[in-house]
Amino acid sequence: MEKVIITAAITGSRMMRDIAPHIPITPEEIAQSAIEAWQAGASIVHIHVRDPETGLGSQDINLFRRVVEKVREKTDLILSLTTSGIPGRNLPTAERLSPLALKPELASYDAGSINLGGRAFINDPAFLDEAAKLMKEAGVKPEIEVFDLGMLVTALKLGAEGKIDEPMHFQFCLGTPWGAPATVKSFLHLYEHMPANATWSIFGVGRGFLPMAMMGLIMGGHIRVGMEDNIYVNPGVLAKTNAELVERVTGICRAYGREVATPAEARKILGFAK
Ligand code: ZN
Repeated sequence: MEKVIITAAITGSRMMRDIAPHIPITPEEIAQSAIEAWQAGASIVHIHVRDPETGLGSQDINLFRRVVEKVREKTDLILSLTTSGIPGRNLPTAERLSPLALKPELASYDAGSINLGGRAFINDPAFLDEAAKLMKEAGVKPEIEVFDLGMLVTALKLGAEGKIDEPMHFQFCLGTPWGAPATVKSFLHLYEHMPANATWSIFGVGRGFLPMAMMGLIMGGHIRVGMEDNIYVNPGVLAKTNAELVERVTGICRAYGREVATPAEARKILGFAK
């Protein structure tokens, strides 16, 4: 089976230190955590930034730049920069898409609206068209985030319209309140709707972390881990670093007999390199 690409989602925009005491906040902490995740076997890092003063999520291009420059200087990681902004605050489109200026290879693309954490996370058709157009112009591949079947169907429609190029790359984000649950049946239903030539990765939030990582492993997909999605390395045991979460999964991959891809190998799998 193809090698497995591990994506490390370093910090997200929502979890604060009161519940996640070890979560990286400053650009330096985020970059350092990404470097450690790479050393542990991650080949992609999914990056959000935080306002260092308040700890809240931010789309400030200058904060992204500080992280990106450091990560590029020290590693050969594939960068996936978020365009989510802060779910629920629904920032202006230009602000959400500002990280494209840093020319990451991937950027997140939330393929529809959903209720998330008590608020509406709006990705309406006008936003989806604009984001797809700007990503295409910037040469950035959308990492299509799928929280439920409607988002996957939406992405297929955008593909048929030529707005998103094939082969597509999906990230299945399962177990969010109130998206598709992080269960085998739920995932298989999504899987059946995916184009055969697509690449895909998966994570389950919280306690869905290990079961969904194993779905990615056995079904031939790729795996995302990290403190954005889950802060426990084992039930009741907080991860002190993102690297610990990466190692939790690389250990399972090796035990199963599927090797972990280097960034160079991941670039070939995703079509960025021959
Ligand atoms: Zn994210």
